[in-house]
Amino acid sequence: MAYASDLEARLAKKVTQAITTYSLVEDGDRVMVGLSGGKDSWALLQILDVLRRRAPIRFSLVAVTVDSGYDGYHHDLIARTCAERGWECRIEHTGIGSTMDDLLDDGATPCSLCARFRRGVLYRLAREVGATKIALGHHADDFIETLLLNLFFAGSLKAMPARLVSDNGEHVVVRPLAYVSEAEARQYTKAQGLPIVGCCCPACGDLALERQRVKRLLAELAIEHPGVKQSMLKAIGNVAPRHLLDTHLNPPAALVPLAVARVRASGA
Ligand code: SF4
Repeated sequence: MAYASDLEARLAKKVTQAITTYSLVEDGDRVMVGLSGGKDSWALLQILDVLRRRAPIRFSLVAVTVDSGYDGYHHDLIARTCAERGWECRIEHTGIGSTMDDLLDDGATPCSLCARFRRGVLYRLAREVGATKIALGHHADDFIETLLLNLFFAGSLKAMPARLVSDNGEHVVVRPLAYVSEAEARQYTKAQGLPIVGCCCPACGDLALERQRVKRLLAELAIEHPGVKQSMLKAIGNVAPRHLLDTHLNPPAALVPLAVARVRASGA
């Protein structure tokens, strides 16, 4: 079966590469796709459906949409589009938006609290729909922007994992678009005629100022050095721990004999 376009073939190759490298989808999986209606989540659902039809393994898909309860959110359009394309879909209506209004002080940044609420709902839904994996639409630009955000503003060297097991071991969160750029996800969603639905959160857009700054920085750098994003993505998978200052990774020399003595004393 031929791909619908060169773009689709490129995406399929990149997603397959991520899936096989990190074991993101396995035989018998029921993959729950977090579908916000944004360009990235549509691209993810569409390309996973394309791969599902061609893959040598069997897996099924179910899309879930978490409605935060903001006025004007077109969850109906998401449900209709899924029905037209034969995609199983569940819309979960919640009061996350108003709960956050109650909890947050004026001017506080809501995104991390919102993400925690949404993650909790996704975990519950995964249980209810019998999902073995939860797939999210983060793409390569998200990975490298998160790396820089943590580096510049949080004092830690971390991006995000392609596969993450929840703290209680119950859920596996996967990010199959890890090698797909934001531009490719946007183009693909557009080419597939999928309707991009805004989240209608009042904070959306102006709040992530640091992320916007990082995006601008990367765009400026990419004019001079077109390969800069590719290099950063490669760097996340090519870590040299001994060349960092983390004393957990590199215990100071004085501590090494102590650690050895402890191991010997324990008889291990
Ligand atoms: S922009 Fe709004 S919907 Fe998006 S994470 Fe932040 S608070 Fe949540």
